[in-house]
Amino acid sequence: ITDNGKFIVEGDIILRKHPWIRNIKKASQWPKGIVPYKFRSLDELEEEDIEEITSAMEYIEENSCVRFVKKQPHHKDFVIIKLGTGCNSEVGKQGGAQELVLDPVACMTKGIIIHELMHTLGFLHEQSRDDRDKFVKINSDNIDSKFFDNFDKSSKAKSDHLGEDYDFKSVMHYYYNEFARDKSKASIEPIVDGVNLSDLGESKRLGILSETDKRKLNKFYSCD
Ligand SMILES: [Zn+2]
Repeated sequence: ITDNGKFIVEGDIILRKHPWIRNIKKASQWPKGIVPYKFRSLDELEEEDIEEITSAMEYIEENSCVRFVKKQPHHKDFVIIKLGTGCNSEVGKQGGAQELVLDPVACMTKGIIIHELMHTLGFLHEQSRDDRDKFVKINSDNIDSKFFDNFDKSSKAKSDHLGEDYDFKSVMHYYYNEFARDKSKASIEPIVDGVNLSDLGESKRLGILSETDKRKLNKFYSCD
């Protein structure tokens, strides 16, 4: 539980309700793909942080019809971007104010910010797809049991793949050693020929959206 009574699951997803009931509701879109946002405080952010956040937003805009706009008084649903511990976000539009939290040391890369913004836009982790066991294997021997929850799968009802194949390189996929006890070894590894450990979450490392991420984003927001 976070300091404001919310729950964090899978490392960086903020839930308002207990994880037990998180599968009830599908993520909500932002109407017309317009996401009003404000920074909690410009004073707490370095100029480079603002540049990094802005460039992540612009990158998403260049690759979809989604638009991040400065919150105006008439916007009732909006995102507050603030510094905090860890990098985390709520999934989809929640109604009212919702948070996107960025740790100034750990989270200020374009890839992580794109990842968190994709949560805000309604996307879950790729490796939590209901069918992920056909594509990756979880090495629980190399994961501290307190992190097992971070490798949960979504229910079939909650997993909307938007007609796309499993995407190892998604900006929403964990790295091969995410939450690993021994970081030199895999906590999650591909079981499909021709896919390497370093492919997992490659787009996050590169600070981009994969081609599949782009298609899903454009489908989810009916951009065409
Ligand atoms: Zn995440």
